Amino acid sequence: MITAEERAELIRALSGVVGDAHVVSDPAGLSVYQYDASDEAIAGIHQPLVAVLPATAEEVRDVARVAVACGLPIVARGAGTGLAGGAIASRGGVMIVLTRMTDIIEVNETDRYAIVEPGLINLDLSTSIADRGYFFAPDPASQRACSIGGNVANNSGGPHCLKYGVTSNHILGLEVVLPDGSLTWVGGPSAETSGYDLTGALVGSEGTLGVITKAMVRLTRTPETVSVLLASFPSMESASRAVTAIIADGILPASLEMMDALTITAVEAAFSCGYPLDAAAVLLIELDGLTETVAEHRDAVARLCSQHDAQQVRVATTKAEQDLLWLGRKAAFGTLGRLAPNYYLQDTVVPRTKLPAALDFIGYLSRNFDIQIANVFHAGDGNLHPLMLFDRYRPGQIQRVLEAGDALLAHCIDAGGSVSGEHGIGMEKKDALSLVFTTNDLAAMAGLKRSFDPRELFNPDKVFPTAFSCGELTNLKQQALEVDGMYVV
Ligand SMILES: Cc1cc2nc3c(=O)[nH]c(=O)nc-3n(C[C@H](O)[C@H](O)[C@H](O)COP(=O)(O)OP(=O)(O)OC[C@H]3O[C@@H](n4cnc5c(N)ncnc54)[C@H](O)[C@@H]3O)c2cc1C
Repeated sequence: MITAEERAELIRALSGVVGDAHVVSDPAGLSVYQYDASDEAIAGIHQPLVAVLPATAEEVRDVARVAVACGLPIVARGAGTGLAGGAIASRGGVMIVLTRMTDIIEVNETDRYAIVEPGLINLDLSTSIADRGYFFAPDPASQRACSIGGNVANNSGGPHCLKYGVTSNHILGLEVVLPDGSLTWVGGPSAETSGYDLTGALVGSEGTLGVITKAMVRLTRTPETVSVLLASFPSMESASRAVTAIIADGILPASLEMMDALTITAVEAAFSCGYPLDAAAVLLIELDGLTETVAEHRDAVARLCSQHDAQQVRVATTKAEQDLLWLGRKAAFGTLGRLAPNYYLQDTVVPRTKLPAALDFIGYLSRNFDIQIANVFHAGDGNLHPLMLFDRYRPGQIQRVLEAGDALLAHCIDAGGSVSGEHGIGMEKKDALSLVFTTNDLAAMAGLKRSFDPRELFNPDKVFPTAFSCGELTNLKQQALEVDGMYVV
């Protein structure tokens, strides 16, 4: 607990760092920061004590020093589009909001990197370097809103990650404020580094190890040609088999996305993108590269889709048509609001060949729990995003949705998948982490966390299962290893 005087003193100290205008401490202003894009069961409950919007890395460091000196938790926040409750201040404390830090500090075409501030919107980076012939490859469907810092912290994926890899493949180095109050760089522009891969440890650490204040990101050359195809299918199964056939043929599309009939209905009502309403599933397939190769692959993909019962294969003939097809995919989640007041978005992953079985199981869950489930997902990666539609005011619906979600996770893990495809662990999935990791695995991770953050002040209550604090996990690990006559942590 913090007294009124201590709170006033804290606000004075933070205002001294960033200026009065950039400290939010009134309950109405702070209510904005109670939410991210995760389910309201997580978001909406916890309010930070204070939110601070620094403008420079040094200000982030000084804000963190003030918070740490008061023993207060620190939660970093980008755009708040996270779907796992990662940017929620579960224990109050100081929220550091990075949205004022949006500069592109350097674009180095020779070494193909850019240094950017963490609050920069993902799409703004690609847009501003497009005329130089480069783009930033990780492209979450939220890329018009989400920040690069959030992408790094969540190791985000996106449609183009099938070919280009997830965020971790595009981060060369990071400037970070560590829990000891220091501001430091890890990694850098050279291809090989020695010692521990601390950049690798920070990417995907969900704000639990430090606050990212700059990112050195890899730039990718804009391909010579981009071709977008829409293929419609009479069943999800035939569409899934087409996905496997395309990859097995040695073709690696830039993206390979699937949408089911429910999603198509909602998207068409909202945007009239030209998705066929009589299809049980559509694949949105993007090919990129040298013009000649793309033409060859386009023919092969069309043939493989037809061999797997495609009703129609359409190639977008203009950039505007390509954009319209993509608009439907990228805005799909929001359009499902037309079908139900609420949805619970599950994020899980299976080996690609297990997609038909997983989709079957989703169909079974829909029938068994009497829940409409829409599917829109990165099929090429086996990364599923079933959206379970419900009305939170109808008794029993939330419970059924949560039970169906748990059953799906268990199915995907059994099939060789994992608990999160790309949205991170945050608060939502932390208990599920023990489904894929042993206590010893978790304790090893907790050892890393503690070596960065011994007081466990950075983004508490995220990633690690509820039942254990990191300290307890570390103790368990020590006990386990001492029994074996070893000592590690
Ligand atoms: C419609 C929609 C579509 C989406 N599609 C995708 C998709 O295709 N692929 C995908 O991977 N995700 C997707 N997401 C999820 C989300 O957009 C991504 O996880 C995104 O990277 C979050 O960025 P953000 O700036 O909003 O982060 P926030 O939500 O603000 O924060 C997310 C996490 O990162 C931490 N964090 C943020 N900034 C920093 C920083 N500077 N330093 C340290 N930690 C920090 C936070 O503490 C939190 O744990 C989607 C979300 C929506 C709403």
